[in-house]
Amino acid sequence: EAQEQQRQVAVYAADLQEIRSRRARLGRLLTGAVTSGEIEVHYQPVVDPHTGRRVKAEALARWRHHGRLHPPDEWIPLAERRGLMPAIGEEVLRIAARDQVRLGCPVAVNVSPGQLAAPDFVATVLRIVGDSCPRERIVLEITEDAIMADFAGALRVLQELRAAGFSIALDDFGTKYSSLSRVAQVPFDILKIDRSFIQRIEDEQGRAMVAAIQALTHALGKVSVAEGVETPAQLTALREIGCDLVQGFLTGRPEPIEAAELATETPSWV
Ligand code: C2E
Ligand code: CA
Ligand code: CA
Ligand code: CA
Repeated sequence: EAQEQQRQVAVYAADLQEIRSRRARLGRLLTGAVTSGEIEVHYQPVVDPHTGRRVKAEALARWRHHGRLHPPDEWIPLAERRGLMPAIGEEVLRIAARDQVRLGCPVAVNVSPGQLAAPDFVATVLRIVGDSCPRERIVLEITEDAIMADFAGALRVLQELRAAGFSIALDDFGTKYSSLSRVAQVPFDILKIDRSFIQRIEDEQGRAMVAAIQALTHALGKVSVAEGVETPAQLTALREIGCDLVQGFLTGRPEPIEAAELATETPSWV
């Protein structure tokens, strides 16, 4: 018995060691990803739920390494911990601002907590966007936890960004336990209802939650975007509730710019 326990501890330690060394290797590879041009951007349409028209596109980072395309969940948390997110996030913003003209609609770019907290964030955004596209065509998506980390500081930064012409979207709304009174103080334009709510929209309670978030959004004079819409039933419920815009696999997957550029105007799901 004791021997078996010891053996298990040894296996566990070896596993931990392997995870650690894999992480260290991944961290080293990621450090070079920007300079080697391995960061790519895919675009997912954000559409009008009634007409199907693409109103916007969200820029989503991809890492191309040795021919494989790695989704952000595999490496963004590590990149953020290693302090690599400012560089990677800036690369995504640069690419998105450049591609915006080809997309023909505003483009939304995700901002990491580390980026938002950087003292030169506003200046950096202004420098990168520069003259590549009008600021009105850039939406910056920010999560509640990034804002709550330094509430007063974040409010200042968001005010500056809006004054400069950018739009602000509150990303993954409802997942981060921030108080509503604080949310109401945040200068933002768009509220993105997290996918976890949309998944439950067919239950009575789930639907009531989405309707409540929708009512809050409109009461604050903001625009709502439902995230992770996958089924026609979810889309129907969102239309009935009066959600402004939808985004999800049903209405369009993230795609490279070449495909996003060619997207048709009247999709099959309308
Ligand atoms: P997010 O900002 O909430 O982006 C939406 C994610 O949901 C994307 O995953 C998208 O592919 C996925 N998605 C869209 N529609 C559906 C759907 O109908 N069903 C399901 N199951 N998923 C859907 P992705 O591209 O893997 O990105 C994951 C997260 O990584 C993003 O979540 C965002 O938090 C982060 N991320 C991506 N790109 C960047 C970036 O450039 N900078 C920063 N800081 N974070 C990024
Ligand atoms: Ca987002
Ligand atoms: Ca989101
Ligand atoms: Ca999310």
